[in-house]
Amino acid sequence: MLLTLSTTHRPATDLGFLLRKNPARAQSFDLSFGRAHVFYPEAREERCTAALLVEVDPVGLVRSRRGPSGEGGLLDRYVNDRPYAASSFLSVAIADVFGTALAGHCKERPELADQPIPLRALLSAMPCRGGEAFLRKLFQPLGYRVAAVRFPLDDRFPAWGESAYHRVELEATLPLHQLLSHLYVLVPVLDNDKHYWVGDDEVQKLLRHGEGWLASHPERDAITRRYLKHQRSLVTDALAQLAEESDLHPDEAAVARDAEEAALESSLRGGTGHRPASTPADLTPGTTAANEDEPTLNAQRLGAVLAVLKAAGAQSVLDLGCGEGRLLQRLLRERQFVRITGLDVSHRMLENAADNLRVGRLPARERERLTLLHGSLMYRDQRLAGFDAAAVVEVIEHLDPPRLAAFERVLFEFARPRTAVITTPNREYNRMWDSLPAGQFRHRDHRFEWTRAEFQSWATAVAARFHYAVRFLPVGPEDAAAGSPTQMAVFNS
Ligand code: SAH
Repeated sequence: MLLTLSTTHRPATDLGFLLRKNPARAQSFDLSFGRAHVFYPEAREERCTAALLVEVDPVGLVRSRRGPSGEGGLLDRYVNDRPYAASSFLSVAIADVFGTALAGHCKERPELADQPIPLRALLSAMPCRGGEAFLRKLFQPLGYRVAAVRFPLDDRFPAWGESAYHRVELEATLPLHQLLSHLYVLVPVLDNDKHYWVGDDEVQKLLRHGEGWLASHPERDAITRRYLKHQRSLVTDALAQLAEESDLHPDEAAVARDAEEAALESSLRGGTGHRPASTPADLTPGTTAANEDEPTLNAQRLGAVLAVLKAAGAQSVLDLGCGEGRLLQRLLRERQFVRITGLDVSHRMLENAADNLRVGRLPARERERLTLLHGSLMYRDQRLAGFDAAAVVEVIEHLDPPRLAAFERVLFEFARPRTAVITTPNREYNRMWDSLPAGQFRHRDHRFEWTRAEFQSWATAVAARFHYAVRFLPVGPEDAAAGSPTQMAVFNS
C-alpha cells in the first residue's frame, strides 16, 4: 500500500526535516507485519513528495495470527486485501516510521512543526466502508479538499460493478503532525477494521491522536465506535472523555444551569432580575433565592422526586445524570433506601459528588449503601438493571433529540425499574421570567425545552411502547395559564 505526502511550502525539501527522513536516500524499516520503505519521488525547492510504501506479508500474518479479523475460511486468511489496501497497518507504519513527526516534534526546524503548510496526501487504495459520502464527512469538517476515484471490482468485467476501494487525494493547509494524526485515526475508521486486539490502551491512543479535533468533529461518535471496533464499554469511556473535552463541559452545564435558574427565580419574585450569580458557592443546597422563606425551585424539585420515590416503596434507587449528588444526599438521609446508585457521564461531576457526600468519611455501613458509577445514558449498561426506581432529574434536555431513542431503550428496556421519575423544564413557563428573553432556553446547553403538550406526548408514547403507565405532576409555583416551571412524569410498570 502506498501513501504519498507532498508540499509546495518553500523550500519544499523542509519536508525531509519534518519527517526526519533524508530526501537523498531511500530507507527501509522492519515492522512486525512486514516492511516499510520511505523514498522521495521528487525533492525540489518548489515541490517535494515523500512516499511511504508498506509491504504486508500475508503469510506471515497467518503464522503470527495477525490476519484480518472476522474471516471465516482459510482462503481469506491468505488471500485478502491487506497487502495493498490502506488500513490499520498503515497507521502502525506511520507511528513507527514517522513517530517524531506524528508527535509534532522537529529538531532541525522546531518552528515548522506547528506551522500550517500546504499539504497533499494521496492514498493509492483506500477501502471506504460507508462510501465516498462517509469519506467526505470524515475529512471535509477538518478542512480538507477531498477527491476520490472509485475502482471497479475488475477492469475486465465492468458488469461486476464498483468496489469499496478508492484512490483518495486530500489537500489542506495545516501542520504536518495534524495531517498525520488525522490519517492515523481515520484510515482504520474508513476501513472499519483493526488488525490487532483492541484493548483499554486504544482509548488513550484515540484521545491522544484525536486531541484538539475529535471532540468537536461532527462524526465524533461514528469515528469513536469504529476506531474502538464497536466495543461498547470502550466507546462509552472514550465518548465520556471526549464530551469533557468539548466546548461546554456537561458539569459546567449543570452548575451554570443552577445559577441561571436561581437568577430567573429571583426575577419572578420581584427581585432585581440580575443575571446569574457567578459563583457556584452561592448555590449550595438549601440556599434560597430572592425570598428567604421559600425553597428554591431546585429544592422543590428534589423534594417532589423524593416524595414519589418514597411513596413508590422503592428500596433501591438509581439517580441517572446525578450531577453533584444533591438528590443522592437526600436519598442517603432516608433509611428506606438501602441501595443508592448515582451515574453520570462526567468524571468531574462524580468527583464533586464524592466530595459533597463526603464519601471518604462515611461509616462503612453508610458507604455500602452508595455507589457512584461513570457511564452514559446513551449505552446499555448491565449495572443499571435490577433497581426498584430511577430518577432522571433535569437531564433529558441535555441530550440530542436524535439520541433520545437510545436513552429510552437504556432506561425502559434494559434497566427497566418498576418506577421512573423524569423531570424537565416547562417551556411555557419561561415567559414568567422577565430576565429571560423570549424564545431563549433557560440554559445554553439545553438542546430543547418542551411545552407540557410536547413532554406529555413524548412520555405517553414511551410509556405505551415499553408497557408503563404514566402520570404527570407540576413542580414549583403554578400559573393558571403557563403551568409550573418544572414538569415531572412518573412511570410505573
Ligand atoms: N440531576 C442533577 C444534574 C442535572 S444537570 C441535578 O438535578 O442537580 C445534567 C447532568 O446530566 C450533568 O451532571 C451531566 O453530566 C449529566 N449528563 C449529560 N449527558 C449525560 C449522559 N449521556 N449520560 C449520563 N449523564 C449525562
